[in-house]
Amino acid sequence: MNEFELIRQYFTRPSPSAVLGVGDDAAILRPTPGQDLHVSVDMLVEGRHFFADVSPQALGHKTLAVNLSDMAAMGARPRWAFLSLALPQLDEAWARDFSRGLFALAEQHGVELAGGDTTRGPLTLSITIMGETPQGQALRRDAAQVGDDVWVSGELGLGAIAVAQRSGKLADAGLSGDVLAACQCRLDFPVPRLELGQALLGMAHAAADVSDGLLADLGHILTASGVAAELWADSLPSLPPLEAERRRWLDYLAAGGDDYELCFTAPLSARAMVEEAGRTAGCRVTRIGRIAEGSGARLLDEAGAMITLNKAGYDHFA
Ligand code: ADP
Ligand code: MG
Repeated sequence: MNEFELIRQYFTRPSPSAVLGVGDDAAILRPTPGQDLHVSVDMLVEGRHFFADVSPQALGHKTLAVNLSDMAAMGARPRWAFLSLALPQLDEAWARDFSRGLFALAEQHGVELAGGDTTRGPLTLSITIMGETPQGQALRRDAAQVGDDVWVSGELGLGAIAVAQRSGKLADAGLSGDVLAACQCRLDFPVPRLELGQALLGMAHAAADVSDGLLADLGHILTASGVAAELWADSLPSLPPLEAERRRWLDYLAAGGDDYELCFTAPLSARAMVEEAGRTAGCRVTRIGRIAEGSGARLLDEAGAMITLNKAGYDHFA
C-alpha cells in the first residue's frame, strides 16, 4: 500500500457540506452566511503529548478531541478538519485503527475531514479545525468582567493522575482500580464540551479550555481581560474519591493539565441559565470562584487563606 492508497482507504470520507473535500490540490469550503469562521491548529508529538504504547484508536480520538475542545471553548460549532500525519512507516493496521477513532468522534459531532497531508517522519499528528459562531458572538478570553462567577465543566485532575500513574509516580497512592481506570479513560478519550460551549453563547462572558491546567488556562483569561480571580480550593470538581481528599490531590485538580474541560466566567444573573445549560449538555458545571480587580489567580482555603501549589501548570518548554 502506498501513500495515496492509504489516504484513499482510511482518510477519504464523503464531506457533503464541503464544496470539494479530499482529493484535489485544495478543499473548497463555503462558510455559512452570517457566521464568523474559527480556525485553530493543535499538534500531538509522541513522548510529549502521548505515550508510545497508546492505542491508535485512542490517538485518533484524542487528536481530534483536543481540537474540538478549542472550538468548544469559543462556543463554536466545528465543521471541517484537516489532518497532517507524519508516520515512521506506512502501517495499514495503525491507519485503520487511528482513522476509526478519529471518524467515530467526527461523526458524533458532524465534523468532516476535508483534507490533510501525509509524510514519513517521527510520529506526529496535527489537525487544523474550522468552526463557526454567529457573527460577533464567540466566547473569547478577553471578556471576563469584575464580579463574574468563575465556572468549570466536568471533573478536573483525571488526565494528570493517569499520566502520573503511567509514569510510576502513584504506586502507593491508594487509589482504587476503578478510579485509575476512569482517569486513564479520560486521558485517552477526552470529551470535548461542544454542546456546553455552544449553549454558553450569549450567557458566558469569557471562556478557555483547560489543557495545561486550570490555573494556567484561567490565567490566560485573566491576563487577556486585565482582571484577577479568587478560586475556592474546596470547590474544585473531580471524581468523588478525589474530592474526598481534595487537598492531597490539589496540584492535580488545579494545575494538572490534560483536562479538556471548559473554564468560563459569567455574570451572577446567568447562574440559573448556566446550570440549565449544563443539564441540557449532560455535563456538570461547578462555580469555583469569582473575578476581582487586579491580576493573577489566588487559590483560597475555606478560611480565605491563600494556598501555594507545588506545581504551576504544564509548560512544554519548562
Ligand atoms: P499535494 O501533493 O498536492 O500536497 P497530497 O498528495 O498531499 O496533495 O494530497 C492529496 C489529497 O489528499 C489532498 O486533497 C489532501 O488534502 C488529501 N490528504 C492527504 N493526506 C491526508 C490525510 N492524512 N487526511 C486527509 N486527507 C489527506
Ligand atoms: Mg501534500
